[in-house]
Amino acid sequence: MRLKYIDEFRDPELARRVVDAIRTSWGERPPMRLMEVCGTHTVSIARAGIRSLLDGAVTMVSGPGCPVCVTPDGYIDAAITLGKRPDTILATFGDMLRVPGRHSSLEKERSGGVNVRILYSPLDAVETAAGNPGKEVIFLGVGFETTAPSIAGAILSAAVRDIGNFSVLSSVRTIPRAMEALASDPEVRIEGFLCPAHVSAIIGSDAYLPLAEKFGVPCVVAGFEPLDILYGIYLLLRQKIRGAAVVENEYSRVATPSGNRKAREIIATVFRESDIGWRGIGVLPGTGLAIADAYSEFDAQKKFGVEIPFTEDKTACRCGDVLKGKITPRECPLFGNACTPAEPYGPCMVSSEGTCAAYYKYGVQ
Ligand code: SF4
Ligand code: SF4
Repeated sequence: MRLKYIDEFRDPELARRVVDAIRTSWGERPPMRLMEVCGTHTVSIARAGIRSLLDGAVTMVSGPGCPVCVTPDGYIDAAITLGKRPDTILATFGDMLRVPGRHSSLEKERSGGVNVRILYSPLDAVETAAGNPGKEVIFLGVGFETTAPSIAGAILSAAVRDIGNFSVLSSVRTIPRAMEALASDPEVRIEGFLCPAHVSAIIGSDAYLPLAEKFGVPCVVAGFEPLDILYGIYLLLRQKIRGAAVVENEYSRVATPSGNRKAREIIATVFRESDIGWRGIGVLPGTGLAIADAYSEFDAQKKFGVEIPFTEDKTACRCGDVLKGKITPRECPLFGNACTPAEPYGPCMVSSEGTCAAYYKYGVQ
């Protein structure tokens, strides 16, 4: 399939033909269980009604691909502790504001007097630090491989400009090994991965080779348009029919096998691998990006001696099971009752790319 223009990726007639091809090739087999890993895919799938279009041939489950949703409450607690220091500005992306910690959120603390500023880029936080030399500016570094290069760039910029009142509380994490953890979980039962688009543009489609080889799970990197997703699903089904488990790249117009070399280099310069806790999933070895020793003066954890504990309190919120694809949001008893986008109970309903928010907004059954 060679499409050049964005309209073509939304063409209903082409989409219908791909749906027909999926149904014809799959026949009467039991539905293949596929995971879309990325929150942006989750939203596109919900908006385009792809789950119901493919009902019977494919069961789509959503994965842990929204960094806001997987950030554990211990991180929010640590951020609040730091925000309560005198002369401190917490700088964050807006979607972190309502994420619940164990006892509070940044939004509640802000109304209680903690200085929380919403910024659009990590570099804005460096500028804020430069403009406020009497304050400590702590950037809440939350994200995946897509955000990591800009956080690394901000740290390098602060280092070059010798801005000593800037630091980052890192909760940056990497996706492929989290997918391996899910692939090896018999309760999750993933038969194919629709791999994230933006992340793959950075790390390259080859990053999923161990996943396909070690766990025998077909992987397809797909873009975010409806036809990208449908064609990606078609490729996954075709692999399954052939008995193959390889990595295919539907999104070759942006993602290459080796990814973005410069972005990968800057990540490797500023960060080092670490173990990190994922909300609902647990601590996954080597999936975190902590700040490398050479840049430890910009590491808020070291600078202020704060710990990020990983504990999972039992609450009624089933986000953990939603993030692992074990249940759909509608199987959570709070969905649409005690938990709505206006009054979210858990992070999957807070984030605009959270699975629960997407199911609620688009009425997915
Ligand atoms: S809501 Fe979207 S932009 Fe915000 S962290 Fe989640 S995936 Fe990223
Ligand atoms: S519906 Fe709300 S409470 Fe239930 S899992 Fe989703 S975010 Fe958590």
